[in-house]
Amino acid sequence: MRFGWADRSTNAPKVLGILAASQDCKTEDLRLLFNSSDGATALIGMAGFVVGVQVEVEGEWWLSVQTTTELVGCPGCGTRAVGHGRRRVKVRDLPVSGRPVVLVWAKRIWRCPDPDCDTKTWTERSELVEPGGLLTVRAGMEICRLVGAEGMSVAGAARSFGVSWAAAMAAVDRHGRPLVDAPDRTAGVRSLGVDETTFRHAGPSRRSEYVTGMVDLNSGLLLDVVPGRSGRVVIDWLQAQPEPWRAGISVAAIDAFRGYANALATGLPTATLVMDCFHAVALANRTVDKVRRRTQHNTLGHRGRRDDPLYKIRRLALVGAERLNSSGWNKLITGIETGDPTGHLAAAWIAKEELRRVYKAPGPAAARAALLRFYLHCATHDQVPEILTLANTISAWEPQILAYHDTDRASNGTTEAVNLLIEKVRRIGHGFRSFHNYRLRLLLACGIQWQTPRVARIRGRQPRSVA
Ligand SMILES: [Zn+2]
Repeated sequence: MRFGWADRSTNAPKVLGILAASQDCKTEDLRLLFNSSDGATALIGMAGFVVGVQVEVEGEWWLSVQTTTELVGCPGCGTRAVGHGRRRVKVRDLPVSGRPVVLVWAKRIWRCPDPDCDTKTWTERSELVEPGGLLTVRAGMEICRLVGAEGMSVAGAARSFGVSWAAAMAAVDRHGRPLVDAPDRTAGVRSLGVDETTFRHAGPSRRSEYVTGMVDLNSGLLLDVVPGRSGRVVIDWLQAQPEPWRAGISVAAIDAFRGYANALATGLPTATLVMDCFHAVALANRTVDKVRRRTQHNTLGHRGRRDDPLYKIRRLALVGAERLNSSGWNKLITGIETGDPTGHLAAAWIAKEELRRVYKAPGPAAARAALLRFYLHCATHDQVPEILTLANTISAWEPQILAYHDTDRASNGTTEAVNLLIEKVRRIGHGFRSFHNYRLRLLLACGIQWQTPRVARIRGRQPRSVA
């Protein structure tokens, strides 16, 4: 234990004993604690509070504080209240200079002097302290920011503030909910993306559960998540939005799921439905994977093992051709030459690349031509059932695929990025049991633009570089 900034003359063990004690304050204790320190009061900066003695206890600052209020009316009758002693409580505040801070607050107890009043005594409150009394409001806001903007787990934030998980989650809820519920958060959406993500993976005694996420494709912000993955949940969600908001949406991006497409066509009759590149290529990637696994099994008689030629290229085969370097190309070609005697995998891989060209085409006419090349390629390999299925699926979604070139193409990549973020939040939370908490955490992490205040530079210009 060491003594703090201001009061080095005080009797250290006695002060510590008083700070740590839980019984009501005695008058002589208060005198010992309250040589108020202007410096520490300014540093703490809580309006209406003064800081008395400051003690360092096992790496934490314990600061004795009290309010300066002297004039208080009885909440029952308005008569001027009289003091009725104090009660000490500990409140966790933001760290100071990297050290945790505990405010030891000698709360006033007030009494109504009017014998006819029903209000007998009450304890003072401060709007700078959270309702539970465990945290200052700014500490609660910081917990919310750490969890929401920095992606920290609630358990991690709770540990760093020395409070329970429930207290930390309550702070996230109290400060996060108004941010999530703010009506302007979802204002002005022009392109809407709808996608499913896993909420809980299947376990021994349950099936996988899914949620449907709505994304603003221009800002990349997650607008909302709802339980389930049916067209119904999308229609219900759309109907809960104001009519002008719905009318403002000109593009809705979808995956190859009829339920969502029908829901969006119904709920947003004026919007253009687009299958974005990410989802179309995901279909083609699944085809490549299926063909690879089947070929592997047919040629080797077992599922992929580490040294199998096709197993070794399972990820390379899904990388876009233009992103392969020469070593990647060599591995891919070697894998196909040694592991794909029927040429089915090579044909599926080319189908995937032809489909990607539809999206990379410079305009609608070029996209149409690219789609025709894709169909021709698939037709010459119609003995491969997976390729035939892919061609049929793409043909069924042709209008939505070509519509990509009639829109501003804003959707590209956004859905994928949001999906990755969602998955990250789910992992940090080690799976969620409560959908309510899951939705709040997702929207705080992916649905809000956090404003980080800019910090002034302490040097006017860059230090001169050394040679
Ligand atoms: Zn009263």
